Amino acid sequence: MNRKEFLKAAALFPFAGAIMNLPELDKLSELETISEKMPVLFMGHGSPMNAIELNEFSKTWQKLGKELIKPKAILCISAHWETKGTFVTAMDKPQTIHDFGGFPQALFDVQYPAPGSPAFAKTTKNTVTSTTVGLDEKWGLDHGAWSILKHLYPAADVPVLQLSIDYTKDARYHYDLAKELRSLRSKGVLIIGSGNMVHNLGMVAWDKINEPDYGYDWALEARAKMNKFILDNNHLELINFKKQGKAFDLSIPTPEHYLPLIYTLALQEKDEAVSLFNDKALMGSLTMTSVKIG
Ligand code: ZN
Repeated sequence: MNRKEFLKAAALFPFAGAIMNLPELDKLSELETISEKMPVLFMGHGSPMNAIELNEFSKTWQKLGKELIKPKAILCISAHWETKGTFVTAMDKPQTIHDFGGFPQALFDVQYPAPGSPAFAKTTKNTVTSTTVGLDEKWGLDHGAWSILKHLYPAADVPVLQLSIDYTKDARYHYDLAKELRSLRSKGVLIIGSGNMVHNLGMVAWDKINEPDYGYDWALEARAKMNKFILDNNHLELINFKKQGKAFDLSIPTPEHYLPLIYTLALQEKDEAVSLFNDKALMGSLTMTSVKIG
């Protein structure tokens, strides 16, 4: 029974409302297909401090949150949740995870109390057929998700789920898996990949923290190539990132911050617009470059 049929039935049999309570009605509405497709984002999240700082990056996130249609749910693929196999968070109230060390207490005090959605977790699980997506009750929201969502949706009133990254699989696998999520866009779900395209923490130039758009030559080279591939819809070159030479090797020493981009790109439909924002290098070996599709 869909929402419309339920309402019709409820009008004919008023006592039906007592049988099917309101939360169940909400679950039904989560599964409805809507006419407008939600955009897809890749967000360069950078330092966890962006969660509590108002800077050029977080200001863009705030502006974006005001421009987008309010989603029914958010599905975030964060660089900071890697597992063997793929899981989706399925709890009612995901905890705010402070998965970092050496930051001020103010950052550890941040809570992002967005609800979860067990019903939508099941929908996500059922949407993917190539592998079994496990329902997770333990994770919550890591800083890859909440540091940006705190600015995008400060009221924390949109249900948020995370999908984990299977660290045993390659980029092609993740690209194909992400394609299976496409129907969620028409159900009002905002899918966000959260990472950093260029991300080499071992080479950070800490003394350049206040120098705007500062990137090492190899970081700038990789950024320029990545941006061109993205804007040319040349996903194959990005899937084959390990064959792109030294600049890419230095930019992607480990894949977890890069793979969320692959999820985002896989959801681009034919002829769909793609644009970049926050396209800045940071401290030599990081980029905040972000992508909006649709
Ligand atoms: Zn990160």
